[in-house]
Amino acid sequence: MNSKDGYEWTEEGGLRQGVPSIGLILPASNLSSSNDVFDVIVIGAGYTALTAARDATTSGLRVLLLEARDRIGGRSWSSNIDGYPFEMGGTWVHWGQAHVWREISRYSMRKDLEISQDYSHGVNSHTLFTATSEKHNLSHESEDIIMESAIKKFINVDGKLGHSVMPFPHDPQHNPEVLRFDNMTAADRISEIESDLTALEYSALKSFILLCSGGTLATMSFYEFLHWWALSGYTYEGCIEYLVKYKFHGGQSSFAINFWNEAMQTKKLSYVFNCPITSVSDDGRSVEVTSEDGRQFRALRVICTIPLNVLNTITFSPPLSPQKSAAANTGHLNQCVKVHAEVSNKELRSWSAVDPSSKLLYAFGDGTTPAGNTHIVAFGANETHLDPEEDIKKTSQILTDLVDMDIKRLVFHNWSKDRYAKGAWFFPGKEFVTKYLEELRARHGNVFFASSDWAVGWRSFIDGAIEEGTRAAFDVHRDLRRSTHGS
Ligand code: FAD
Repeated sequence: MNSKDGYEWTEEGGLRQGVPSIGLILPASNLSSSNDVFDVIVIGAGYTALTAARDATTSGLRVLLLEARDRIGGRSWSSNIDGYPFEMGGTWVHWGQAHVWREISRYSMRKDLEISQDYSHGVNSHTLFTATSEKHNLSHESEDIIMESAIKKFINVDGKLGHSVMPFPHDPQHNPEVLRFDNMTAADRISEIESDLTALEYSALKSFILLCSGGTLATMSFYEFLHWWALSGYTYEGCIEYLVKYKFHGGQSSFAINFWNEAMQTKKLSYVFNCPITSVSDDGRSVEVTSEDGRQFRALRVICTIPLNVLNTITFSPPLSPQKSAAANTGHLNQCVKVHAEVSNKELRSWSAVDPSSKLLYAFGDGTTPAGNTHIVAFGANETHLDPEEDIKKTSQILTDLVDMDIKRLVFHNWSKDRYAKGAWFFPGKEFVTKYLEELRARHGNVFFASSDWAVGWRSFIDGAIEEGTRAAFDVHRDLRRSTHGS
């Protein structure tokens, strides 16, 4: 069955909105009466909400989950086209991400991971365009040498590759010295090292850091990139391992469905999909949640997992603190576009490219489809923004400008125009994290806020979402126990 989300284009079928996914939930609701007062309402069905709903139900709470879309997974979901999972959002995971790995073990999925890159056959090469559009054909070894050298120059603010300024990634301000990097953008940092970068290094660096932020050099926070680097073990190899290497053979939705099924098996989960929430009103004893079509739901507590960039579309009563509202109004800057191309060129399975001037600035072979075609994944950032559905011909041209390819199919989800996300994974501008992170994490009366967007560890990642869902369910359970039993 098709979700309403996502797009697929083929020569024969043209552009179609909505793609099949195993994350689609039917029937869309199992709620028998909306007069019930639940222990907790969970708003959303991304990984934060799925974890929170699962943990709350398994700890005995009666939960109502309300989700605007027709499917689970939020910003991490896979379409299933002709038996092949195209990852529309969050994709790669790693055993070094503690929360993710706990869940992979829980659901016996350790044998379900595969490696995106396959350099065993085909062109086995990397195309690097410089900022002046000179094209270089390189080996993957040369690609790694150039990338590593460039990123090390960028990150080496302390002569120790970031180790001394951010020694603990999960306590990033452990050394207060790091704060001086919080008011720097990537462009500020590049201006300090530019004369030391070769043309190839500059192109590689620009493409890689824009891949990470989905933003622009002039706005993306250097401090946040330092945080990613520290989480990835302070090496370029670590970045590749953690960020773009290991994915689920069956797609993200094959992972998410386990959280859902476990929560459903408790018989304590009620749910309503296609149910966008517009207001949350807390009278001090319980919370009333109202949907766009006027339905009202009530619970003792609410876990709100609405992403940062759309948090200000909800009316809260009492109103959010000025700091929380300011954070929501500022938002994050990631407007990444991720485009999948199924191409008949088998030799491109081992190809990759960076072109800092292209609207799709980072691309590589990511799999082989059941038809034997190569699956290419490509990313763009806000520096040169692309809305693929507006011009399929142009999108195809951007891809074929990177390398000659015979495109059979395009698949994508436009996160920038998605009214329930308004952006991709969290990536902030300068000073955002130090100014707002703690406040975003704070509860607001009986409403608890949880999102990957304000996780402390792998913030912006699936791991961060699971971290946050775990925290919220634990806090709500403890809070309700205290209010009933006083302990
Ligand atoms: P979300 O998944 O956004 O969940 C929030 C939910 O709230 C959504 O289901 C939304 O529909 C719902 N909602 C919003 N508004 C309303 C409303 N008014 N009423 C009711 N419901 C509402 N992470 C990785 O670990 N690895 C990766 O490789 C990776 N790549 C990514 C690539 C892309 C293109 C994107 C977009 C993200 C990527 N991420 C990756 C990040 C990861 O997907 C997110 O950090 C994570 O999925 C966020 O989970 P969440 O539950 O906090 O938020």
